[in-house]
Parts: sequence; C-alpha cells; structure tokens
Amino acid sequence: MTKIYNFSAGPAMLHSSVLEAVSNASKDYEGHGLSLMEMSHRSKLVMDMVTETESLTRELLNISDEYHVLFLQGGASLQFSMIPMNLLDTNMIADYADTGAWSAKAINEAQLFGNVNIVCSSKESVYNHIPKQLNQDENARYLHITSNNTIYGTQWHDFPTLINTNTCLIADMSSDIFSRKIDVSQFGLIYAGAQKNIGPAGVTLVIIREDILGAINRKIPAMMNYKTHIEKNSMFNTPPVMAIYAVNRSLVWLKNIGGVDSIETKNKLKAEKLYNEIERNPLFVSPIAKEDRSIMNVPFIFSNGEDEEEFLSFCHDRGLRTLKGHRSVGGFRASIYNAMPEAGVDALIQAMKDYESR
Ligand SMILES: *Cc1c(COP(=O)(O)O)cnc(C)c1O
Repeated sequence: MTKIYNFSAGPAMLHSSVLEAVSNASKDYEGHGLSLMEMSHRSKLVMDMVTETESLTRELLNISDEYHVLFLQGGASLQFSMIPMNLLDTNMIADYADTGAWSAKAINEAQLFGNVNIVCSSKESVYNHIPKQLNQDENARYLHITSNNTIYGTQWHDFPTLINTNTCLIADMSSDIFSRKIDVSQFGLIYAGAQKNIGPAGVTLVIIREDILGAINRKIPAMMNYKTHIEKNSMFNTPPVMAIYAVNRSLVWLKNIGGVDSIETKNKLKAEKLYNEIERNPLFVSPIAKEDRSIMNVPFIFSNGEDEEEFLSFCHDRGLRTLKGHRSVGGFRASIYNAMPEAGVDALIQAMKDYESR
C-alpha cells in the first residue's frame, strides 16, 4: 500500500504515536478500565494529565513562572475577541500588523472593543511578504502579530521591537508554535489553536503574563475572562479532555525526539529542500518574498498556468494529499508541520521532479 502523507494546513497531520494513544484511550485510558471520554475532569487521573501537559508546555518552551498556561476552547478565533475584550478599553489604542486573512479577522474583532492602529499591511500585494516598516502608536496597549501566516506562507523570522515599554507583544502562533525556538519573555500573550501543530481541534493554548490584565473597566463574562481560567487552572468548566490528551502525547513525542531545538533543525531542513526544488524546477515558482518564507506552510504555483487539478491528482495517486492552495490564493500549498517527516517532503520533491520529466 502507498504511504499517505497529509500536507493539510489544518487540521493537520499528527504523529502516529499520538493517534495510537488517543485511539487506545478512547476505549481504555492507560489501563484504568474506562474511556478517557467518560472520565471526570475532576478525577485525579485527568487532573494529573492536564497538569503534566502544562509542565511539558513550560519545559519545551522554557516558560517562566510569571506566565500562566491555559487550555481554552473556542479556537484561535475566540482569542481574536477575548484579547481586546480583556485588554482594550473603548478609549484605548491597540497596534495590529495586517499580514494575512487571520490578522484581518483579529483586527475586525478588536475594532468592536477599542481603537485599532494598523501598523503595516501587505494586503495590496496579496500578503506575499512581511512589511519591515511598522508605524507603532506610542500609546498602544499592545502590538498584535500573526507569527506565521498559514494561508500565504509568510513568517516573522524576527519579531518586532516595541517602541514603548508600557506596551506588550501579542502573537497568534497557531501555525508555528513549538516549531522553532522562541523567547516567551518577549511576549505578553501567545495563543495557538492546537490543530495545526500540536493536536486536534477543540483546544487552544494561551500563554499569558498576568500583569497585562486588570487595566480596563469593562465587565467581562466569566467564560471570556482570562482571570476566571487563571484562578481555576483551566478547569472553570469541563475542559476538552481528549483534545488535551492528544496535545499531551504530541508534546511527549516532541520531548523524546529532542524538543524544540531539534525539531527546528528538522523543520528548517525540510523547508529548505522544498524551496530549493521550487527554485530549481522550471514548472513551479514561489509567490513569496524570499526572506519571509515560512518553514511551516509552503505555497507554490505553476510558472506557466498548467492544469492544477492534473498535478493534484498526480500527487494524490502517490499518496500525497491535501496539496491544494487555500481557496483565496489557488495554486498549491504544502504544510510541513512538526509531524511531517523528511520522507514526506522527499516524496513530494520526487513527484515534482517526475512531473517535470513526464
Ligand atoms: C487556523 C488559524 C486560525 C483559526 O483557528 P481556529 O482554531 O479555527 O479558530 C487563526 N490563526 C491562524 C494563524 C491560523 O492558522
């Protein structure tokens, strides 16, 4: 049977050890005789598992005690509104970098709560680069960036420097969390939906420094208030236990293969190989500015307008799945998150070569 490689941008490929653990736990959680789905989130076994997931997150990202690690629901999309609801009063200003469709959605939500200053935008060039000039407001409460633009395949390789020490940096890291070393202390808040790089949909990781809270007057519903979840250790209401368990197993796998340092080296190698083939192969081009290319999502297009469906079905027959570009940009996109092995990238490169010489 042909080996299947899933290049989906999300929900995305997970390591086989994760799928196996979740599959076993759905029948009998680690030999305790009950499915994890029917176990109380207040039981010691489940609480220990969630605590361990938090410890793994702290260890792998080297997170200091100043930060809380939360497992919330509502996806990264709910964070688009929860962040301004908790941090931005109606008379305050927040800086936002407009580097893609997800940034634009975050901007739309923030505008419901306060004033938004767009520090930069690459929209005019279909988000094919990360702007280098940022027009920050000196009174901004925070600067929000999307560290990796999943749809367009651009990535902040250097994070912006803030012009004012009263502000803080906030990042949507949904599609590159745990893929490369980051210095968490540079940020006031980091959030990521799990389903790109660390688990299934249903759980969102939030890393927050508590001192950024408490500066506004708005009344906040309990479920939307970070303080609620901080006080209750992500157990204010029933958490998505199965999804958190899958994250747990992904992080255990990541730790066992050497952690973030080691996966970053692997991710860079995979991306470099694929970009090199796109450069070399006369059939394909990358629409993205070289210095801003993502190591997670690699979009490419035909240089001469060939039939895209034909190449997609050529790949499909070789087990290379979900390579269609996002509907807003077309072409192809290979998402090569942590769980994609180098062999998957090699198989795609071989398909591109064979398509060239067919
Ligand atoms: C997928 C994605 C989102 C949306 O995540 P949901 O969990 O579906 O709300 C937001 N931001 C980025 C960068 C993404 O890749």
